[in-house]
Amino acid sequence: MITTSPAADMFDVISPVTGRVVGTHPRGSADDIDDAVRRAHEVAGWWGALGFDARARRLDAWRGIIARRAPELAELTHIEMGKPRADAMLEIAMALEHLAWSAKNAARVLGRRAVRSSLLTANQSASVEYLPLGVVGVIGPWNYPIFTPLGSLSFALAAGNTVVYKPSEYTPGVGVWLAQRLSEVVPEHPVLQVVTGDGSTGSALCRSAVNKIGFTGSTATGKKVMTACAETLTPVLMECGGKDALIVDADGDLEAAADAAVWGGLSNAGQTCLGVERVYVHEEVFDAFVDRVVTRARTIRAGSGGNAQIGPITMPTQIDVIRRHIDDAIGKGGRAVLGGLDAIEGNLVQPTILVDVPEDSVAVTEETFGPTLTVTRVRDMDDAVERANASRYGLGLSVFSRRRGDEIATRIRTGAVSVNSYVMYAAVPSLPLGGVGDSGFGRVHGADGLREFTFPRAMTRQRFPSILPLTTFRRTPRIDALVRVLVRLLHGRH
Ligand code: NAD
Repeated sequence: MITTSPAADMFDVISPVTGRVVGTHPRGSADDIDDAVRRAHEVAGWWGALGFDARARRLDAWRGIIARRAPELAELTHIEMGKPRADAMLEIAMALEHLAWSAKNAARVLGRRAVRSSLLTANQSASVEYLPLGVVGVIGPWNYPIFTPLGSLSFALAAGNTVVYKPSEYTPGVGVWLAQRLSEVVPEHPVLQVVTGDGSTGSALCRSAVNKIGFTGSTATGKKVMTACAETLTPVLMECGGKDALIVDADGDLEAAADAAVWGGLSNAGQTCLGVERVYVHEEVFDAFVDRVVTRARTIRAGSGGNAQIGPITMPTQIDVIRRHIDDAIGKGGRAVLGGLDAIEGNLVQPTILVDVPEDSVAVTEETFGPTLTVTRVRDMDDAVERANASRYGLGLSVFSRRRGDEIATRIRTGAVSVNSYVMYAAVPSLPLGGVGDSGFGRVHGADGLREFTFPRAMTRQRFPSILPLTTFRRTPRIDALVRVLVRLLHGRH
């Protein structure tokens, strides 16, 4: 939770775990943002000129410090946004995998490489390289305050950009901590600056002289970010909300699928962009699957203590959204086979499993961001695919099927699919992560994630004069006749 401090330009962070103030941070103004962006431009040349290898060494050193001090970072994450410390450690582990990958692969992915020329351009040697944009503005959410921003920060830095980062107002301490650790291994210049604040600070970053915005947050805020960036034609990376589905085929491993649905739906108190919110199950195994899910989910307790498997809901306003979704699901004929409206206890929400919820309920169509699942019976896998794809979101999806997993996966319109597991595509460092539709566009992670923070520069070098000089007023009628023949020869057969 956040509140305004008596000093108008400061805000407090109130821990959802203890209810106490755990930090007070400046609310960055437009001037603060502009100053940071100006400094970032001043040092961008230095950081870019260091080259891939020297940058990789610094980023590896950053990774080493984060790893050695990981318990401290996990504690800070727990106290600021409420997830259990062990889950915060898992988040750090995943984030560092991607940081390592970006440092190791930037030269290979972005460095200059030769490409083939063509018959008409045979006298040219051609190459392409991917250059840093300059200064990247990153705006982050609170639900994965390490993994999510590092997806942009690591890749933007590895590509040679400097960064101004506006962390969520719920987790500013985590953002500041990450930047402080980088400054220990890059003491010369502030290549990563953090400006804390709320939406107004984020909005100022969009209007500043950054060369790109890497945004992760809700779809509604994403639209505001794009509107602001349109004024200056600033490109944007949009990592927005989701309503991910999990599909269970008649021959799927029910134990594994139930385990994935429960973890995917309930972990982090359901506050996961890639969280499972909808489950579609073949009618032949529906009852057996629901039994398994309920048996598992019954053992999970939300709490603020050290032993709780899931923490509190971080944003107080989200409680109303969760209540509205459960209420709508039940009002439209759904049943809570576990939890329900009574599962909401202050800022804690106990696991809630809903069945028979119609597809037009907001519990199925909108992002709930709570520890709830709708589990729906489907006729067959065509039915499951159609319902899964009906969402306006398209981030990730899981499918459990022994024989047809790949086939079902190829029919899904989301940025990623995992067959017989949950969310593993986000853990494989060489894979891109991102969505389609209302989940956004652009990619973090992998080669696409590195290219996201660059622009390609194409280059040709003439090796010898062309025997067919085309781009000159000295072109003869003979050459024009030859071009006509060539056009027919090269393309007319198709
Ligand atoms: P949010 O949209 O409320 O806030 C995100 C960030 O935007 C915050 O830093 C906030 O201060 C800033 N912001 C708010 N108004 C702004 C404005 N007008 N201009 C610029 N910045 C502004 O989202 P949240 O509650 O922090 O995060 C949860 C959302 O993020 C969920 O929808 C979740 O699905 C999504 N998310 C997506 C991914 C992904 O990879 N696609 C990852 C994590 C979270």
